[in-house]
Amino acid sequence: MSVLVYIEPIKDKIKKAAIESVSYASQVAQLLNTSVTAIAFNASEETIKEISNVGAEKVLNISDSAITTINIKSLAKGVIAAAKEENVNVIIFSFDGSGQSVAPYVASNLKAGLVAGATELPKVEGNKLEVRKNVFSGKASAIYSIESAFKIISVMPNSIEIASNPKSAEVVAFAPSTDLKDGVQLKNFKVNDDVAHGGVPLPDAELVVSGGRGLKGPENWGIVEDLAHALGAATACSRPVADADWRPHHEHVGQTGLAIRPNLYIAIGISGAIQHLAGVNGSKTIVVINNDPEAPFFKNADYGIVGDAFSVVPKLTEAIKKIKAN
Ligand SMILES: Cc1cc2nc3c(=O)[nH]c(=O)nc-3n(C[C@H](O)[C@H](O)[C@H](O)COP(=O)(O)OP(=O)(O)OC[C@H]3O[C@@H](n4cnc5c(N)ncnc54)[C@H](O)[C@@H]3O)c2cc1C
Repeated sequence: MSVLVYIEPIKDKIKKAAIESVSYASQVAQLLNTSVTAIAFNASEETIKEISNVGAEKVLNISDSAITTINIKSLAKGVIAAAKEENVNVIIFSFDGSGQSVAPYVASNLKAGLVAGATELPKVEGNKLEVRKNVFSGKASAIYSIESAFKIISVMPNSIEIASNPKSAEVVAFAPSTDLKDGVQLKNFKVNDDVAHGGVPLPDAELVVSGGRGLKGPENWGIVEDLAHALGAATACSRPVADADWRPHHEHVGQTGLAIRPNLYIAIGISGAIQHLAGVNGSKTIVVINNDPEAPFFKNADYGIVGDAFSVVPKLTEAIKKIKAN
């Protein structure tokens, strides 16, 4: 039994979520007393260094410029070929956009049990893996048992600590015996560089400042951005804010938007509806700023400030700037 971990093709720097999934794979491999192989596509030296620092002992690198993040079927075929040729039976993905699209395809092809969005390391019970994940929009958690020969887990970003485990990875140029090309020619594809304010994609952000309808209009977003800037945070928003075009849709968090788990989530002028909480209640620390002491969000907050956002937020920003300056 050995463990394979999928590294999505990337333009620049490897994403934190991918490093987390390698670290998770390495810890699973330790539980199973085996080793970790990573499958990567057009991986740079930097990427290989980063993943070998957290436990990858071998990297199968498929170098083919035609294979990109949008070739889901080709990426999946590469993972399936690697799983079969390397005699792997546990495959780890990140539960991010790329992992969410490739993992189900691989699972259906390999007839593998898949647990999507794991929040903890699995327990090994004989031939089974028992994996915990959140259910009912994060209101409960459940343990699933994977009993199939191939087992697939995708890991919820920001749920596990990255553990240093340096290895000198053997890098192998991998040329699968199957043809990875789809035969589909893609035309007119436009990449949205969905990088939130703060320069990091929202799912990767450690700190997030988020605004809701309490901010009254897009012209008032300066106070959210100033606070985010002072903290080095990304910005997010509630759904009505994105629906009203005050902010772009890729900043919308919640049940129908992104699910995030930053270390710090500051919610300004957001009521805390269940559909909003579904996307943010995995955050490690939640701070709520709202002028209504009865706002439901306070029940889910670690810290709350009852007050007018337009007076509280600039004061908070100034205080943070002062602390940082010292
Ligand atoms: C199927 C479905 C899916 C949904 N999915 C999502 C989702 O993914 N994400 C999401 O966010 N919503 C979602 N919603 C909408 C959700 O139910 C709420 O309507 C929405 O989250 C409310 O947004 P809000 O808190 O910004 O606005 P409001 O509910 O209008 O709340 C504004 C808050 O700002 C406070 N406030 C007002 N003025 C100030 C001030 N000066 N200073 C400080 N605070 C102030 C108010 O007290 C209030 O609590 C969904 C709804 C449905 C039905």
